[in-house]
Amino acid sequence: MRVLILGGTAEARTLAAALVALPGLAVVSSLAGRTSTPLLPPGEVRIGGFGGAAGLAAWLRASRVDAVVDATHPFAAVISASAVRACHDVGVPLLVLRRPGWTERAGDDWRRVPSIAEAAAVLPGVGRRALLTTGRQTLAAFAGLDRVWFLVRAVEPPEPPVPARMTVLLERGPFTADGEEALLRAHRIDVVVTKDSGSPAVAAKLDAARLLRLPVVMVDRPPVSPGVPSVATAPDAVAWVTGLRLSPPGSGAV
Ligand code: NAP
Repeated sequence: MRVLILGGTAEARTLAAALVALPGLAVVSSLAGRTSTPLLPPGEVRIGGFGGAAGLAAWLRASRVDAVVDATHPFAAVISASAVRACHDVGVPLLVLRRPGWTERAGDDWRRVPSIAEAAAVLPGVGRRALLTTGRQTLAAFAGLDRVWFLVRAVEPPEPPVPARMTVLLERGPFTADGEEALLRAHRIDVVVTKDSGSPAVAAKLDAARLLRLPVVMVDRPPVSPGVPSVATAPDAVAWVTGLRLSPPGSGAV
């Protein structure tokens, strides 16, 4: 049985590690190729886009893939939509592995917004010195905000258009609450802007913001495609794959 993991997340790497340890399974992880030094999962890895849903469908057929787990980042909506279309067209079972989003706690001051564009629209009314962790590909939306200074934290250097007033920190998590508090204090940050990734590795900024009583502009995640089964943890995804192996689609087994 051959499984494709659409990856780029810690959960995808955990899942790959668990599946390659199972006998009789061939596992391929796919990465977009966005970062120059990607964290590689164990097992076979391919890097680069497929060429939309049609390209992915062709790849699934050519590679004789039996099941796909979409374990991409909750905000990677384009590849997730491609996976739904391609798996439907080829008749391959698809599972979404998506960690839960963050939950507001006592002392938090979150302003939930539905999109990056809306985050940029509300930001000048919330603060003047922003820690921006929404990813380098989102910076264009903030480029016109001349009255806000940005501390941009990203894994790779951003490319224009970017905000006129910004400092870039090239760092990859995990981060600690103490470190995040020190960062916010050192740069006199008065607002944190983040996507609701739900990642434990980068959640410490929320603890630091709560401690310092700073507002957080929180971009909500796009919804998971309706009708596609989803799980929240790698062990649950392993159980789904194992279940397919015991009763492959079309076998008539129940
Ligand atoms: P996206 O907007 O959904 O995808 C854009 C295009 O990149 C897709 O159409 C696809 O190209 C290609 N692609 C994306 N993920 C791929 C994968 N795992 N394997 C092969 N091709 C892939 O995605 P994104 O937001 O740019 O994120 C790119 C990757 O980075 C994802 O794999 C995601 O898990 C990871 N990541 C994203 C974020 C984030 O904040 N968005 C954060 C951390 C990690 P084709 O159409 O040519 O197939």
